[in-house]
Amino acid sequence: MASIRFDGVTKRYKDGTLAVDDLRLDIPDGEFLILVGPSGCGKTTALRMLAGLEEISEGEIVLGDRVINDVEPGDRDVAMIFQNYALFPHMTVYDNMAFPLRMRRVAKKEVAEGVRAAAQLLGLGELLRRRPNQLSGGQRQRVAMGRAIVRQPAAFLMDEPLSNLDAKLRTQMRGELARMHRRLGTTTLYVTHDQTEAMTLGSRVAVMRNGIVQQVGAPQELYRNPANAFVARFIGSPPMNVMRGALEDGRLRVTGQEDGAGVDVGGRWPGQTREVLVGIRPEDWRLGAEPAPGEALTLRGEVEVVEELGAETIVYFRHAAAAVDVAGEDDGIGETFAARSEGGGRLPAPGDRVA
Ligand code: ADP
Ligand code: MG
Repeated sequence: MASIRFDGVTKRYKDGTLAVDDLRLDIPDGEFLILVGPSGCGKTTALRMLAGLEEISEGEIVLGDRVINDVEPGDRDVAMIFQNYALFPHMTVYDNMAFPLRMRRVAKKEVAEGVRAAAQLLGLGELLRRRPNQLSGGQRQRVAMGRAIVRQPAAFLMDEPLSNLDAKLRTQMRGELARMHRRLGTTTLYVTHDQTEAMTLGSRVAVMRNGIVQQVGAPQELYRNPANAFVARFIGSPPMNVMRGALEDGRLRVTGQEDGAGVDVGGRWPGQTREVLVGIRPEDWRLGAEPAPGEALTLRGEVEVVEELGAETIVYFRHAAAAVDVAGEDDGIGETFAARSEGGGRLPAPGDRVA
């Protein structure tokens, strides 16, 4: 097992694309770190540089105590698990899992022991004689993981390993991955575009955008204290509602709100006057037909869509506040905000006015 360090790592492709920009990331031995960000932000490139499948333009990658920039991929002692499983179709499950050990000329008995142990950990014991085309997607992904496990590598590199599975299986496999990591304790760098995976799987999460890491922290830290509007909107579903506002001598106002009285926050930011971004999580709105009396930011709006999800209900409403557009996001921001309601009282219906 080993720690991983990206030290100012940059990737510029031949066509000039700057895919990863000065990546700095310290992953201690045994950690499960998630690299999350929208499609095209540079996640796979970062992983491929670590695996040795892509040249590093600038900076250093350190695995354990050695710089691996110039180490051959086969000598890096990392195991990569891909989204598309990359199994050998003509080999049985057993042979697929045994392959990396046989390549290293491991003794037959040890190969058998390694494969059995991994198969047991992953619940593949009954399937060892099958070929990949006789397996479900989830089982195939398990075989791919098994093949990585038998090698006992210094680190696992996983590139969206669950994204080809259906929602139910994805949830189940998330649990299994967490269990596997608890059992093996192998340093893992896990790449995904899915913020739910990021929030549930890792002990720490690095949020990436346009090749640049925006923030690294525990899931709840990102949720409670996002470093910028991008992180605020990327982590959490539905996204945080972010709007423009102003702090004027201890009073907070939202730009464009109808009753612009604002709310007194002078205790928290005494005497301050400046433009600010105001972020409100869907669960922090209180929906009502009339403005709440007293000290609360109030927005008037019209209900557009109501999603009843069982345990909770999401209400989307159109409003007049000046919402913040996070460039490159095409999610209708600026028109509707989301509010989360956990039942009790009458639910708003489309067309209702809320305040
Ligand atoms: P992600 O995995 O986060 O979706 P990638 O690392 O695959 O992102 O890609 C990051 C950026 O680099 C994208 O703009 C992508 O188009 C570009 N890119 C990826 N591979 C190449 C390549 N071989 N040549 C040029 N540009 C590439
Ligand atoms: Mg990718």
